[in-house]
Amino acid sequence: MDGAGLARRVVEETATRAAELTRSTGVTPCLATVLVGEDPASVTYVRMKQARSAKAGILSRHVGLPATTTTAELVETITALSNDPTVHGILLQHPVGPHIDERAAFEAIAPGKDVDGVTMHSFAAMSFGLPGFVSCTPGGIMRLLEEYDVELAGKHAVVVGRSAILGKPAGMLLLAKDATVTYCHSRTANLSALVKEADIVVAAVGRPRLIRGEDIKPGAVVIDAGYNPGNVGDVDFDTARTRAGLITPVPGGVGPMTIAVLLAQTVEAAARQLGT
Ligand code: NAP
Repeated sequence: MDGAGLARRVVEETATRAAELTRSTGVTPCLATVLVGEDPASVTYVRMKQARSAKAGILSRHVGLPATTTTAELVETITALSNDPTVHGILLQHPVGPHIDERAAFEAIAPGKDVDGVTMHSFAAMSFGLPGFVSCTPGGIMRLLEEYDVELAGKHAVVVGRSAILGKPAGMLLLAKDATVTYCHSRTANLSALVKEADIVVAAVGRPRLIRGEDIKPGAVVIDAGYNPGNVGDVDFDTARTRAGLITPVPGGVGPMTIAVLLAQTVEAAARQLGT
C-alpha cells in the first residue's frame, strides 16, 4: 500500500482547500506547534510538520519552551493558543518531559483546535461517531484502508498495541466500520495465535519485526504503524509480504499519512472556525 503516494494526493487536496479558504476569507489557516525542550527527534518531527504545512499553504506558529517548563506554564501557553483566533490548530509535540502532566497539557487544547486528535473530547467524539478530529495516525490508517477498498464489515481486525493516540483509537475506528476488533498488548497471552486469525492486522507496538510472516493469514491486510530505529517496522516485511494480500511498507506506508491527516484537519478546523 503506497502511503507516500496517497499522502501526496491528500496534501495536494489540502493545499487546494487552504488556498480557496485564504482567497474567500482573507485568512490563512495556521497551525501552532508547541515543543518543550530540545529532544533531537522531536525537533526533527516539528520541523518536518512545519515544512509540510508551508507546502500546503498553512502558516506555522512555533512556540519553543525550555525543558524546565512546568505543567502550569505549559497549560497556560496552550490555553493562550486555544483562545487566539489567529491560530486554528494546535499540536503539542509529545512525549513531553516526565515531570509534566501530559494529559493536563493535552486537555488545554480547545476541542475545535485539536487537529492532532489527542484530547479526551476528540477520543469520545470519535468513539461515539460524532463530529470531531481523529488521532492522526489511526485516521491515516483508515484513509489507506478506504483507498484500497478494504472490506471491513464483519472482518476480524487484530490491533496490536493500545496506546491512547494509536492502538485504542485505531480499534475504535475499525469498530465504527463494523469490523470485529481484538486488542492485543504486552499482557496478551498467545499473540501469535490471535494474529493468525486476523483478516486485518494493525501493528502499533514499537518492537522491531514483532509480527512474523508465518503468523499472517494468507490474503490478510497488514498495516504496520510501527517505526523503530533504522527505519524498521513492527512487522517483518520480507516474510509478511509473501502472505499478505496488502501490506504497508516502512517507511512510506502509515508515516506520511499521519502528517497528511494533520494538515487536512488543520484546514478543516480553520474552515469551521471561519464559518465556511
Ligand atoms: P506506546 O505508547 O509505547 O504503546 C505501545 C503498545 O504496544 C502498548 O499498548 C504496549 O502494551 C504494546 N506492547 C508492547 N510490547 C508488546 C508485545 N511484546 N506484544 C504486544 N504488545 C506489546 O507506543 P505508541 O505511541 O502507540 O507507538 C507504537 C509504534 O508506532 C512506535 O513504533 C511508534 O514509533 C509508532 N508510531 C508511528 C507513528 C506514525 O506516524 N507512523 C505515529 C505514532 C507512533 P501495554 O499497553 O500493555 O504496555
